[in-house]
Amino acid sequence: MRIILHLDMDAFFASVEERDHPRLKGLPIVVGSDPAAGKGRGVVSTANYLARAYGIKSAMPISRAWDLSQQAKKAGKPEVAFMGGSYSQYAKVSREIFNYVATKGDAFEPASVDEAYLDVSSLGSYEAAKKLGSEIKDWVKQHQQLTCSVGIGPNKMIAKIAAGEDKPDGLTVVRDEAVQAFLDPKSVRELMGIGPKSEVQLNKLGIKTIRELRDQSKEFLIEHFGKHGEGMYRQARGISDSPVDATWEAKSVGRHYTFDVDTLDGSQMMPVLRDMAKEIAAEVVRDKKWFRTVVFTARFSNFQTQTRSHTLDTPAQDPGTLETEGLKLLLPFLDSRENPKRLKLRLIGLRAEKFVEQQKTIKKKEAQQPGLF
Ligand SMILES: [Mg+2]
Repeated sequence: MRIILHLDMDAFFASVEERDHPRLKGLPIVVGSDPAAGKGRGVVSTANYLARAYGIKSAMPISRAWDLSQQAKKAGKPEVAFMGGSYSQYAKVSREIFNYVATKGDAFEPASVDEAYLDVSSLGSYEAAKKLGSEIKDWVKQHQQLTCSVGIGPNKMIAKIAAGEDKPDGLTVVRDEAVQAFLDPKSVRELMGIGPKSEVQLNKLGIKTIRELRDQSKEFLIEHFGKHGEGMYRQARGISDSPVDATWEAKSVGRHYTFDVDTLDGSQMMPVLRDMAKEIAAEVVRDKKWFRTVVFTARFSNFQTQTRSHTLDTPAQDPGTLETEGLKLLLPFLDSRENPKRLKLRLIGLRAEKFVEQQKTIKKKEAQQPGLF
């Protein structure tokens, strides 16, 4: 049995902006081009749900979004906060989430910066997949203060449509036997590969819902849409075989831990560090990789965060190396070397990165021999 999970972050760019800028809390937000007081020529990239309530959508001209915001303002509602977009920040948040989610299934494939597929067939049941879905949602909430929607189904197509079913913060499971009833009332536009053009063509033939599409013979669809028609015929029946492409690779594997009470007590940190090292190493070994760099993160009681890293001459994959290197990086934070004010720590993190496929000593550049001419 195949079980696929689709993860879709809710209004991702706008939600990251809202999270990172407390002054935006509870406001309609649009990430996109500069509206230039209504004269801007670009488009909306993402609108949060409050901005969507004004009728603003992705890919809409930014000038139109500006007009809608002004109309709302005249009606006494808050103006839209237009943001230029911090794309490197979105990529970073995306990577952190993907790094975690990728460890939870048999194969992981990002579909975009805020959407990904996870093959969870080996869990063996929809109950187990649903439990994992809610675990992932909880993790994202707790670690990123963001919400996402999860869809679970027998293939990528159903999982993706299911993720869109109950946004935001949704979790929708569509089991094999429920696929047809789930699809039938939906617009043909929900199917992959049916864009606005095909939709218009289908509508002209009197076909609006997936149910109506399913009523057509394969010959009829091929006659009107060629090879594409055959795909429509299959999709209307919920059939999709495309695999979750497992070629994606995590760029780092890490763990972090927040203490119940801020501390400067090394004896409290040691066991935490050891556990993190074990978990990270298990993951690295499972992926048949070796790491070259160990990164340690310390977050002080005042929320200031610092990282220190060390790159090994010989790549490693064992928990011992991680623990020892982690400890070497940690100790200076317990005294004046990295912590002159002796602030207590609220969080420590350990991360392995710079992966290589095999354990080969990286030679230091040999001193140049004096040239002989
Ligand atoms: Mg999304």
